Amino acid sequence: MKSLLHSNIIEVHNVFKSFGGVHANIDISMHVKKGGITGIIGPNGCGKSTLFNSIVGAHPIDSGSIIFEEREISKLLVGQIARLGLLRTFQQTRIYSKMNCVDNMLISVSHRKDARDGLFAPRKGETLERALSLLEFVGLYSKRNLISGDLSFGQQKLLEFAMALMNEPKVLLLDEPTAGINPTLINGLIDRLHRANEELGITLCVIEHNMRVVMNLAEHIYCLANGRLLADGKPTELQADQRVIDAYLGGGH
Ligand code: ADP
Ligand code: MG
Repeated sequence: MKSLLHSNIIEVHNVFKSFGGVHANIDISMHVKKGGITGIIGPNGCGKSTLFNSIVGAHPIDSGSIIFEEREISKLLVGQIARLGLLRTFQQTRIYSKMNCVDNMLISVSHRKDARDGLFAPRKGETLERALSLLEFVGLYSKRNLISGDLSFGQQKLLEFAMALMNEPKVLLLDEPTAGINPTLINGLIDRLHRANEELGITLCVIEHNMRVVMNLAEHIYCLANGRLLADGKPTELQADQRVIDAYLGGGH
């Protein structure tokens, strides 16, 4: 199935982004293949999260172009881009820690096209059903009525993932989804990400520090260093690339 899918759903062309004197992204070009899983690696502070922020419209870029489904989106606002079906999750989870899991799921549908109908409008039953089935999908159904702040950090990340799925994204950008999660849950999360990609048809782009995870997930990986694109290729190609080893693998990761 995947071999039939060749088009790029996201194209980043020559993007520059600075914060004062800090050049966080310097002439970055990359693409995300529709229906696939793309990886982004690189040392801390090399500009990975900034690139995600630029793509989803969290801040304006200095120059360059970002195309989503053949449409220029670099001048759009974050809500407009979300409504097109391009969403992200955060390095630090953003859940409502005093609310239970189901309510977190229900409140996360704000970006849906039909959100103007209101949360408690006629669709509520359908939305609740969807919330429960996605909690089941990520393995949190039995915890559905627990206060989300009482979940383990890994479970909170699974909840945040399920919350993003509530919005039926075409593309989900995941910023270090396994950071701070224990190894048992990491395997579960990898499995869920593969299933979201294959069964729900969601294109994924994953920033990932854990090399084992990114090798397992992504078919194509970009490596950033010092704000620039250093190399890209298949996992096995990057693993053998001396520039990547020097910049990243050799750095104790
Ligand atoms: P990574 O995600 O690869 O660790 P970031 O994209 O978060 O890297 O950061 C890249 C650089 O940009 C860092 O030097 C960081 O301090 C800086 N930076 C990121 N976001 C901001 C911001 N909102 N304001 C100022 N500097 C920022
Ligand atoms: Mg980051």
